[in-house]
Order: sequence, then C-alpha cells, then structure tokens
Amino acid sequence: MNFVSTRGQTNPHSFSEAVKVGLAPDGGLFVPESLPDLSGELDSWKGKNYPDLCTAFFRHFATDIPTDELKTLIVDAYLRFDHAQHAPLVKLDEKIDILELFHGPTLAFKDFALQLLGKFYERQVILSGESINVLGATSGDTGAAAISGLLGKPGVNIFILYPDGRVSPLQERQMTCTEASNVYPLCVTGSFDDAQAALKEVFGDKAFSQSVSLSAVNSINLARVLAQCVYYIYAWLQLPDTRRAKTTFVVPTGNFGNVLAGWMASQMGMKVAGFRVATNQNDILDRFFSSGDYSVGDVEPSLAPSMDIQIASNFERFLYYTLGEDPSKTRSTMQEIKERKAFSCADPKVLRSMSSSRMGDTEIRETVSSVYERYGYIADPHTACGFKDLDSLEHCVILSTAHPAKFPEVVEEALGQVSTHPILDALKKLDIVKSPLFPDAESIKAFIVSKQ
Ligand SMILES: *Cc1c(COP(=O)(O)O)cnc(C)c1O
Repeated sequence: MNFVSTRGQTNPHSFSEAVKVGLAPDGGLFVPESLPDLSGELDSWKGKNYPDLCTAFFRHFATDIPTDELKTLIVDAYLRFDHAQHAPLVKLDEKIDILELFHGPTLAFKDFALQLLGKFYERQVILSGESINVLGATSGDTGAAAISGLLGKPGVNIFILYPDGRVSPLQERQMTCTEASNVYPLCVTGSFDDAQAALKEVFGDKAFSQSVSLSAVNSINLARVLAQCVYYIYAWLQLPDTRRAKTTFVVPTGNFGNVLAGWMASQMGMKVAGFRVATNQNDILDRFFSSGDYSVGDVEPSLAPSMDIQIASNFERFLYYTLGEDPSKTRSTMQEIKERKAFSCADPKVLRSMSSSRMGDTEIRETVSSVYERYGYIADPHTACGFKDLDSLEHCVILSTAHPAKFPEVVEEALGQVSTHPILDALKKLDIVKSPLFPDAESIKAFIVSKQ
C-alpha cells in the first residue's frame, strides 16, 4: 500500500516514508492510495485483544514493515496502558455506551496515536542510524502525549513549545516533570499562535531542518489517524450484531482528527448509523455540518481547552474524500479557505455525512453534574460536550477523550468533590524542568543546536 497527497502533487510514499515526513511536500495530507474494503474481514476480528486487532488493521497499511516486527511495535506501544482492555466500553443505559480512551500514560485519547507514533520514530532511527529532533508546539494535551510517546527513546530529542502560563498547571507538569534527558519543554512568552508561527519559520529553513533531521509532531500524521481507527472497530465489534448499524459514534471534536478516523473506518466497511461531531463554543464544525458555513472565527477559550480550535487541520482529508478523491478540487477548496478564511458547501450528501452539536461553558458545567446525578459517572469537560441532543439517536457510543482528573477545577465546581488519579498525584512530587525562551526562530534553532 502506498500513500498519496490530498493535493496530488507528491509522489506516492511507502507507509514508513509518509510517517517520517508527516506533511506531504506539496502541503497536502497523506491518505491511502485506496481505502481497503474490510467488510468481509471485520467479523473474524471479533474477540481479538487490542494489540492483535491493531496489528490486523495495520497489516493493510504498513505493508513495508514485516508482520512480526509490526506486531512487536504495537504490543510495546500499548504496554503502558493501565486497563487490560485498553479502550473499555462502559454502559450507562440501554441507549448510551461510553468508550473510555483515557487509560494511556497521559490520560487522554491522544496516547493511542502517539505511543505508537513514538515506536515508528524509534524504528526509523534504528534503521537509518541517524538521530532525529522532533519539534512541536502545543496548547496542552498533544505536547504531553507526544513527550510521553518519545520519552527516553535513544536517538530522539523532543522539543515542545508551549505558551507560558496558558496551559493548565497539570498539563505543564505532564510536560515538564518527566525526568527524561531527551525531553526539552520550552515555555515561550506570548500566545500559542506566536509559538506556532515561530515553529513554522524554523521548519521553513530547509537547510537547518535537514542539518538536524527535524521532524514535526502534529495531528496530521497519517499514522495518528490510522491508529485512531482501531478503537472504533474495537468498540463496534463489542456491540451486539443487531445494534451495530443503529449506533452513532459521538465524538468531542477540535482538530477533527478523532472523528475523521471513525468516519474512515466506516468507509472501509464498519457499518454504523453515523457520526456526531460534538463541539464546544468554538463551533466552526457545528456550523459547517448544520448550515454548510465553514468560516474561521477567533478562538474563545473554553472549559474544554483541547477543543479550542478554529482551523481543523484534518478537515482536508474529509474534503478530499467528499470531493470524490479529486486532488485538484481539494487544492482549490483549500486555497479558497486560506484566502477567504471561509468556504461554504451546499451539497446535502456532504452535510448529511455527519451530524453535529455545540455546547457552551455553562452547559458543560451543568452536564458534568447532571451526568453524575443520573449515572454516577464522572465525565471530563470534553466528554461532557458529547451529551447534547441525544434524543434523536437510537443508540450511541460517546467517546470519552480525557480522564476527569485532568480538569479538577471544573469537576470540583460541578460536583463538589475532587477527581484524582495516581499518575497525576505522583507528578505533583517531581521537579518542574523547563527552559524559558523567546518565540523567535533564531532562539529556537540555537537551543536545538546546543543540545546536539
Ligand atoms: C485533542 C483532544 C480533543 C479533540 O480531538 P481532535 O482529534 O482534535 O478533534 C478532544 N478532547 C481531548 C481531551 C483532547 O485532548
């Protein structure tokens, strides 16, 4: 299997090459040359444990990695999950199941992708004998998950920029209390956008980025999307046969990576009733799916900060598929979005391919408390956004994207009790190690060079 760019101006890449490069050289995102039809095979995967299911799925994509090696990578990637099922399905009532995706080392769903991506990077370093420097900017969870995935890996240095004082104290501890010598959290003055802009400039210096084998860690890597397909299939296989096609997956959404993965699994033969994009007050995707209007506004900080996003990077992959896998139409639509900061769509087939909902902060607080009263279940503020307008759905699986203990203030305020987790408690005893930096390209480059 080879991978092509959504913008059609990049040579086909093998799986390992596409994972290594991240973004396609023409500015597009990698997608499989064609999506495999898994419908005949899915049932035979029932009963497989998580790593085995993941291996069976990746066999279709990572065709340049020998099966035994692939299996070992995947088993190792998921060793640090603290639940035997990795992604347990918890029944709230006849209508609602929760798919808990927070049993990885940083207690958010991003661990599913980044623990595995860390393994792919490690393999790359071993094969090439060259060390790599991974650089990313984060407004919270991605940084912690990326650091955890690459922690202590020989030949890999990881540099994560984050805006000083604008990530939660626990998120900062997750990034800075690692005790690992290959991890460099860089707290920069200014906003996340300033950090992001400086980072783009560093990557734009091709001579520099080649000289230190610089690699980007962000939500558009192909391996991340594929890794996320697996838990949808895992959950779907656990549902009674008669229920599967009546189930809607409800996905708290920011960058659109998570829900896109489920939707891609459905395009490969996982038959479901549909997908629901659940947003917070940053509702560009709710506006799109309810009215066809995709116009980029300003980000308003919310109680579900990992969904505070206005430009959903993975949306390009969805556009590509809904535009009939046509790279030139994808190119012109992306160009339009870039120039006008807006795009509108009137095609009912596209708009009906997912439903959507929106939840503001007041309602997030109320929902955390009403879900607890009704089911005795503590939902984190991101997961809470999924509990909106469920009446029209026959059966749903709500994806729980983070452990509630990551957001103690909201939970405590809503429930009058604290949610804790031993991993987070242990962090509070460790020293914070971080490097303050100006968010300009030259300072970042100098810092990276000083650590070689
Ligand atoms: C990243 C994140 C999201 C948003 O996921 P996307 O793939 O960006 O849509 C939702 N909830 C939590 C807790 C997250 O960390």
